[in-house]
This record gives sequence, structure tokens and C-alpha cells, in this order.
Amino acid sequence: MAFCISVTVWLIASTVESFVVSQSTKILWSQISYFGFPLANPFLVLFLLTYIRQREVTLRMTATILVIPILTIIAAWTNSYTGWLWSGFSQGSIENNVLIYNHGFWFWLHTIYMYIIFTGGVFYLLRAIILAPPPIRRQLLIILIGIMFPLISGTIYAFGWVPVEGLDITPTGLTFTGAFMAWALIRYQLLDLLPVARTALIEQLQDGVIVLDMTGRIADINRATQKLLGWDPKVMIGKNIDLTFPELPLLIYSTNRPLRRDFPLPDSPGIILEFQSSSLFNQRKEEVGKLLVLRDVTSRNRAESDLQNANQLLKEQLAQNKLLQKKLEHQALHDSLTGLYNRHIDDILRKEFSRAKRENKPISLAMIDIDHFKKINDEHGHQIGDLLLKLFSEYILSNIRAEDLAARYGGDEFMLVFPGMTLDNALIKVEEIREKFSNITVTTDQQQVSTTITVGVAAYPQNGETVDDVIRSADWALYAAKEEGRNRVKGPISPFL
Ligand code: GH3
Ligand code: MG
Repeated sequence: MAFCISVTVWLIASTVESFVVSQSTKILWSQISYFGFPLANPFLVLFLLTYIRQREVTLRMTATILVIPILTIIAAWTNSYTGWLWSGFSQGSIENNVLIYNHGFWFWLHTIYMYIIFTGGVFYLLRAIILAPPPIRRQLLIILIGIMFPLISGTIYAFGWVPVEGLDITPTGLTFTGAFMAWALIRYQLLDLLPVARTALIEQLQDGVIVLDMTGRIADINRATQKLLGWDPKVMIGKNIDLTFPELPLLIYSTNRPLRRDFPLPDSPGIILEFQSSSLFNQRKEEVGKLLVLRDVTSRNRAESDLQNANQLLKEQLAQNKLLQKKLEHQALHDSLTGLYNRHIDDILRKEFSRAKRENKPISLAMIDIDHFKKINDEHGHQIGDLLLKLFSEYILSNIRAEDLAARYGGDEFMLVFPGMTLDNALIKVEEIREKFSNITVTTDQQQVSTTITVGVAAYPQNGETVDDVIRSADWALYAAKEEGRNRVKGPISPFL
């Protein structure tokens, strides 16, 4: 802003100077223009210093740079006494209304000084251009071109190589400077922040950052790395990374592709660090180093394995639940002592009956009751009774077909179902079972126990259309067989009503 103001003052004053006619007025406006002219260049240099370094120049530096320009202003206003700045004036071209200023020694001293600081500024800018990343370099180049204009026009004026003698074209050159600066600043405004932001970003990153050269030497570490690894940058920068992570260099230098790997932190049992390595390239696309980003993944890994364990447990529980459910379903339908179906066989029976109806096939049903079972219990004990029940069940199962069903219907009462079997065949089959069973004995400590069975048989369709009807009919037959003296098989006693 100071640069722009001083250029404006200079431009306005020198424009007015070129319009006014009398010599004394011209000199007065020239003196006024000196409030701007000697300051423009120093302010430009101060701007470059501030801008390139991205921080304010010190007050002392500002003051140092401004000493000679301020003395020049004083010289301009005291020139009538000293003649240091202008040794004299002579009339130039009348038609162009030009006054020629003959320059005194201070003018030349001032000019030399301007060249010195200007050259310094340009060199500083050139250095920055070489070091800057491409987008910022472009911006700085535009600024460089911009500041070259007043240098050219000022040189032309100082040496009197102007088309019209005494015509100062320096302000015209500065107009271009302004335009170029505005272009550079507005076009690349956002990038002003970048160099500063990048440094701040890396420093404030939660993740550790390590920069390595191609031999594994540590070139830079950020604050997070210092905290994470307990590293002192003064000690660690310049050291080789393999001192702490011996396996790391072999891994990351074997490729120039990004890599991610976990490593345990030495001397800290249980702590796991995740390293992400990527390559750093120079402008010729040559790999010049490695960038490592590291973070503590201990808790993440732990959470992951906890989750896996929980998942595994859940799976096991689910499998167990399924097993349990199956067992429950089985228990609901089966008798625990014998493993045969229990009384809830009815549902299955109903299905068998509707299938028989559909397929137009018979079903025979036998109700079996063990004879004098109470007596066996009484004489030999319940355990022998149970054993007999089990033995009888096994015996039945080994004597019926796979499609036949056997159920323990009550205490010592059993039901056999023979899908597709006619009543006559069922009677033969059951008679066989009864006869063979009477020869079977349970051996106890003292003696051998055996018993007989009484059976009532009925069949679909001749003894009833429904399950309940046929069961009732078989029950009646059983009752009648018991009445007749037990240990026998009896078919339906009367056609069902
Ligand atoms: P019947 O020839 O008239 O059938 O005489 P029974 O003694 O067998 O008489 P009933 O069939 O009425 O009696 C059944 C007996 O079976 C009654 C009970 O003591 C016995 N019982 C029932 N359930 C069990 C059991 O689970 N285990 C044992 N050991 N005995 C049982
Ligand atoms: Mg009985």
C-alpha cells in the first residue's frame, strides 16, 4: 500500500508539473513529487521482502532502508539553499513545456542507492523464484517482470535517453508495475497462504511425519513424531532410521510405490505403529527421499481383535442356540426315556392320514399295552421297569420299516403306525412282534424278567376316516383283548359306527 501511495503521489505531482508553465511552480511540483518518487523503490523492496519471507520486516530494517530516501526528500525541499539535488534548471522544449533539471551530486548518490537496493531486491526475488514450488514461482515471475519496467524507464531517464529532453518516463513504467502486481496478487492470491499453511499443517498433524533421504537418514520430523517416539529432533535429525526400525529401510527402499505396514515400537511392548511410506520426487521426477506417516494403531488393532472375538463368540452362541432349538423341538415330540415319539405324534399322524387319503392307500394302527407292568415295577423296582420299556422300544424299532412310526403313548402304552399297510398284514406283523417279544428277557442281578404284550389293531379306511376314529377303534380292540386274557392281538371288534 505504501508503494502504491508513493507511486500515486509521484505520478500526480509529475503530471501536474508537466502542465504548469512557470519555472517556480514546476519546481514546487517536482518537490511535491519527491514525497513519492524516492520512496517508491524502497517500499517495493520492503514489499518483496515481506511477501517472499511471509513475515513482516523488522522496524530497524525498514528504518535503515528509508534513511537515504528521507534525506532525499529533505534535499529536494532545501535545494534552493544547497543545490545538492538540482544544480540548476534550464528551459527545454517550449512546445512540450519541459523544464530540464540539472542533477546535483545528491541526485546521483540517491540514484546509486536506488540501484543497490533494487538490485538486492531483484536478486532476492530471483532466489525465491528458483526455490519456490511451480505455482508460486509463476506468481513471483510476474512480479519480477513488473518491477523491471521502472528500472528500464528510470535508467532511460537518468541517462537522458528520452525522445524529448527532460521528459521523465519513470512514472509510466511504474504504471506497468502496478498492473503486473495486481495481476500477480489477484490471480494467485490464494497461494499466498500455502507455504505458511503447509508448515503449520505438518506441525499440527496428529500423525507423525518423518522425512528420509535415500540412504535412510532422517531429514526432518514433526512434533507428533517427537511425541510418539520420544525423539529429540536435535539428536535424531541426521541419524539413520534403521537404528530404531531395523527392518524398515529394506522394505521401503525396495519400491517407489506407497506402502503400509505395521511395526512394533521397540522397547514398548504391545505398542503397534502403522507406517505409510511414499516417495518424494524432485522436479526431474527422480526419487530423492521418503515420506513416512506413522500413527499408533494399538487401540485400533485391539478394538478390531475384540470385535473379531465378540463375533466369533456370537457365532458359537448362535450355533449353540440352533442346536438347542433342534434339541427342544426333538424333546417336544419325543419321549425322553425311550426316544420314541410321544403323545404329540398326532400332528404327524394327521399328515400321514391326509397323504393316505390323497394316495388312496390304507393306514394300520396298533395300540400296545404291556401286561402286568405294575407288577414288574413292584417286584423288581422301577429301574427294571424302565429298562424293560427301553428294551421294548429298541425291539420295536428294529422290527418295523423305516416309514413306520412308533410312539410311547402313555406309561406302558405304545402306538405303532404302518402307513400303506392293510389291516390283515398289520395283524400278521403285530402278531409276529408279540410272539417274539414274549421270549425276550431283561437280566437283573438275581433273575431274568420277561413279560408279554396285548395289542389292539385298527385301520383306515375301514375303521374310521379320521385319526381319532381309528385310534379309538384300536383302543377298543386293545380293551377287548385285555378282557379276553391278555398276551394277544385283536383286530377291530365291530365295524365302526
Ligand atoms: P395291565 O396288564 O392291565 O396293563 O396291567 P398293568 O400293571 O400294566 O396296568 P396298567 O397298564 O394300568 O399300569 C401301567 C403301569 O405302568 C402304572 C405305572 O406304575 C407303570 N408305569 C407308568 N409309567 C412308567 C415309567 O415311566 N416307568 C416305570 N418303571 N413304570 C411306569
Ligand atoms: Mg399295562
